[in-house]
Amino acid sequence: MAEHDVDVKAMLTRLGIDPGGENPGVYDGAFAAGTGGALASHSPADGALLATVAQATRADYERCVETGLAAFPRWRMAPAPARGEVVRLMGEALRAHKDDLGALVSLEMGKVLSEGLGEVQEMIDIADFAVGLSRQLYGKTMHSERPRHRMYEQWHPLGTVGIISAFNFPVAVWAWNAFIAFVCGDVCLWKPSEKTPLTAIAVCKVIDGVLERSGWRGISNLVIGDVVQVGEPLLDDRRVPLVSATGSCRMGKIVGPRVAARLGRSLLELGGNNALIVMDDADQDMALVATAFGAVGTAGQRCTTTRRLMVQRGIAAAFTERLVASYGSIKIGHPLESGVLCGPVIDDDAVRMYERAVARIREEGGEILCGGSVLDRAGCYVEPTIARVPTDFALAREETFAPILYVMEIADIDEAIRVQNDVPQGLSSAVFTNSMKTAERFLSHAGSDCGIANVNIGTSGAEIGGAFGGEKETGGGREAGSDAWKAYMRRQTCTLNWGDDLPLAQGVEFEI
Ligand code: NAD
Repeated sequence: MAEHDVDVKAMLTRLGIDPGGENPGVYDGAFAAGTGGALASHSPADGALLATVAQATRADYERCVETGLAAFPRWRMAPAPARGEVVRLMGEALRAHKDDLGALVSLEMGKVLSEGLGEVQEMIDIADFAVGLSRQLYGKTMHSERPRHRMYEQWHPLGTVGIISAFNFPVAVWAWNAFIAFVCGDVCLWKPSEKTPLTAIAVCKVIDGVLERSGWRGISNLVIGDVVQVGEPLLDDRRVPLVSATGSCRMGKIVGPRVAARLGRSLLELGGNNALIVMDDADQDMALVATAFGAVGTAGQRCTTTRRLMVQRGIAAAFTERLVASYGSIKIGHPLESGVLCGPVIDDDAVRMYERAVARIREEGGEILCGGSVLDRAGCYVEPTIARVPTDFALAREETFAPILYVMEIADIDEAIRVQNDVPQGLSSAVFTNSMKTAERFLSHAGSDCGIANVNIGTSGAEIGGAFGGEKETGGGREAGSDAWKAYMRRQTCTLNWGDDLPLAQGVEFEI
């Protein structure tokens, strides 16, 4: 065993994964080996082969869609609270497997163990939320302008929800979508990231017993396969009324138009380029921790990662110096090792992307204050990096999915908001200030243009109770809490005449 305490083979086995062996890449109420060739899953922590997966082909995809369609007519007619009970049981199954699943998330994706466990906790939280929601799928009633008429809105299930998920939240994103979709009466078809297939299989293994015992196998389906065999067929499939896709803006620019071309619905959760503003009057201790966690947590691979730090002139030099010093105490290493705060990035491609970005920062006149190197050890480890750049630095307008933080100096809140908003993405944003006026200015209509705007809280780590998502190239979708459930249902306006006449709306006369 390496420097950590987890017995990897035992952990994989408890989750139903065959360590070193080939695992089924298809789940449609039964697990099946896909016929699309083997996909290897290596841990970014040390490059070790965890297991392989027999990937799905187009034919396997077809079977999964048919399974969902066959389950839907009965599932949609189950009372919503009964559907909530099935989700409650899934949440309980996740509670029972939290330690193993959290460790697998860490091992396959690379986030440190407390974040791996936190991700499974997020699934459990959303299950709890969905259970309550199953009794609260409210529609409005309206007063009709016509006598003895009743008018109201009701919400019906959509059908099959296609879920495309990213590698960085390999299990939570499925739960955000699936648990809400299930209580809404939908069935789901999941296409996870090809970089994290084992966590997806493990989730299906965890919930399989619940589906079997409750008699609801078929509502939750999984296809692990490449974009050509299963990704793009999902986009073009008229039997899938909603495609919820989480990933890069590049992917969203393909998915959005393609689903729209068949007039389907898409829910897009795409890249971010999140800024944290620290004003002269801020609590600097709080701002420091929020910045370090936001920029380094998950090795800079959260959609809400802090990528740009804007510090007001009066404290910029001193605050930056403290931040650089704090990076010196961040332990980089195996995600399952205690005390480690920064694990690996996902793969060699991510390491190369980091190297290219660091080289470009230097070429284009940025100043690397700390970090900037790839660690010479097994696994995909890079140094968390801080670069001082001007506010118009071109590379800072892009999302580089790595722990690189750009520090900029700003004169006042107006300049900070202008620079913050002047990027294509619009996910998360934060200001640290003790001025009520500055906070309200940031939250006003003329303030942050992001889907998430925080005061004295960092950009990273949202709670599930709020609607989650962002504007502009982040895609405009909303998931998780609040009324995000409405995206998973179709609205129907009903008017019922209990009188003896047929009055027309707007006083229109039509005598025959
Ligand atoms: P990615 O875009 O490379 O892949 C995401 C998913 O899309 C994968 O399952 C992939 O197979 C699939 N995909 C890619 N092209 C496709 C196509 N043409 N048709 C169908 N499916 C396709 O993203 P990634 O590297 O896995 O994840 C990182 C990105 O995700 C970052 O940009 C991050 O900000 C973003 N992200 C956003 C949120 C959010 O809620 N806004 C959450 C997590 C991650």
